[in-house]
Amino acid sequence: MMAQHFLLSPAAKTLSLVQVLRMSEEAAREAFRKVRWPETNGEPVCPACGCVDHYDLKTRKVWKCKACSKQFSETSGTVFHSRKLQIRDILGAIAVFINGAKGYSALQLSRDLCVDYKTAFVLLHKVREAIAQARDAGALKGDVEIDGAYFGGYVKPANKREDRKDRRKKINQSGKRQVVIAIRERGGRTLTFVRKSEAEGVALASQTIAKGSTVHADEAAHWDKLAARFPTKRINHQIAYSMEGACTNQAESFFSRLRRAEIGTHHHVSGDYLGLYAEEMAWREDARRNSNGDQYAMALSAVGIAGKSERMCGYWQ
Ligand SMILES: [Zn+2]
Repeated sequence: MMAQHFLLSPAAKTLSLVQVLRMSEEAAREAFRKVRWPETNGEPVCPACGCVDHYDLKTRKVWKCKACSKQFSETSGTVFHSRKLQIRDILGAIAVFINGAKGYSALQLSRDLCVDYKTAFVLLHKVREAIAQARDAGALKGDVEIDGAYFGGYVKPANKREDRKDRRKKINQSGKRQVVIAIRERGGRTLTFVRKSEAEGVALASQTIAKGSTVHADEAAHWDKLAARFPTKRINHQIAYSMEGACTNQAESFFSRLRRAEIGTHHHVSGDYLGLYAEEMAWREDARRNSNGDQYAMALSAVGIAGKSERMCGYWQ
């Protein structure tokens, strides 16, 4: 069962890490073309005007559109535009990224691919961005859980015991502390947002949850406002007491996944990219019952259709 509405390219379903490792760069380029242009079975389509007629400029591995004269390659107009890596390396990188269920660090990828850290960092963020773009953002319905958790604002632990008690205060005053708000349909999708305060989740709930849904939230006072729009069920964590089956276990399960990735893989997630890490982990959580092969096909299809990355384009260049 495919939990999310990814447009799956049939060619993506036939690829695995082992196959990618055995490919020549030419074969990898052909495989990527089939993922990117499934409607023509890999025949190049001009990203500027949609024309399928082109000249082959074989020496530069690009095509020139017969209609608009623009030159383009496999990656023009995708998140891998202006790439420095071979396509085979990109296909391999996506496979190892998928296999890292707890997240995958740029440091590890830079070792795996023998590329510098910055190249690995940009590549992984482009994959995250493509996955985020491909996810279904439609309204959630049924039983929906909402919760928030704070991330970031890392402050180096103090050595002296008397300084330690000030640490939490410093973290809160660092201005870098952000809250990730997760809105999760039970048995369905998880939407994530990065905001300054959890109370902003009230407005997000109105925007993302269909009317008639039941919203589950904890005892925090700002969630009282949810009742104006939805039937709500509240849970009181302090006294471990649940009203008529109210619970936010699925939202909490997402947060523990994100926390494990923060602590175990990325060490601390920087403010600007917290949103992308959260989307990645939400996708991993939602797709956890899909096979590795299906997850790879989902990510690869997302990369094939995602638009050019505004955020990561020219990053560090
Ligand atoms: Zn064209």
